[in-house]
Amino acid sequence: MNLRVMKNGIWATIQGEGKLIGTPSVFLRVAGCNLRCTWCDTPHSLPDYDPAKGFLPVITNKAENLTVREVADRIEILTNYSLDHVVITGGEPTLHIPELKALGELLGRDVHVTVESNCTLPPLGLAWHTDLASLSPKVFHWRGKHKSIVHAYKAWARSTDVQLKIVVASLEDIRVAAQMISELSYHVEPVWAGLQIESSWLRNGWLEKEHRPALFEFLASHNIRLMAQMHPILKVA
Ligand code: SF4
Repeated sequence: MNLRVMKNGIWATIQGEGKLIGTPSVFLRVAGCNLRCTWCDTPHSLPDYDPAKGFLPVITNKAENLTVREVADRIEILTNYSLDHVVITGGEPTLHIPELKALGELLGRDVHVTVESNCTLPPLGLAWHTDLASLSPKVFHWRGKHKSIVHAYKAWARSTDVQLKIVVASLEDIRVAAQMISELSYHVEPVWAGLQIESSWLRNGWLEKEHRPALFEFLASHNIRLMAQMHPILKVA
């Protein structure tokens, strides 16, 4: 069984987001995503998946097919150096469910597995092999894909811990994110919920300006955390 993995897509680094921020981890970046977010920080992982057609028949030179055993071996070489956290990211991991379930069997229960997903597709059993689902539904999908996001969220939350990590780039985004977090929490309270400021908005000095009091009040009243990605700040991959 083969898994579509980005070239150099298995590496050791530090988790830069969410409740496990700062944790040394092995990352696995699978290829292809069903969305096309404008701020995507991994656009190189998208081209060989067309949301209308699925995976393209021609494999781009940016991704490679590895057997699930090869992927597990590469992860195990890195986890031998006392790393016990594995993060499966993309692209979109739920496009590879059978392969990732097989990988979960090979890795066993000694490692902590986080799966990062855009929460538009259900996990279909992958949640059983996941210790933390890090779900990032997009604010611009909340109206159009509302049902599929709620459905996917509930399916993840039935079988594993979930954290919500929503990227925001405007006050309107924050308003919609609050709606999302509150509605999703109605079904199952996430273990962690946070807003991640989109980097261009951060660079523009938004936090230094007039919105700060309103933002602090909002965070306190909704029990939501605010964060920026750690990787660009520390300049680690
Ligand atoms: S869901 Fe993630 S990987 Fe997919 S396009 Fe959006 S930011 Fe990129």
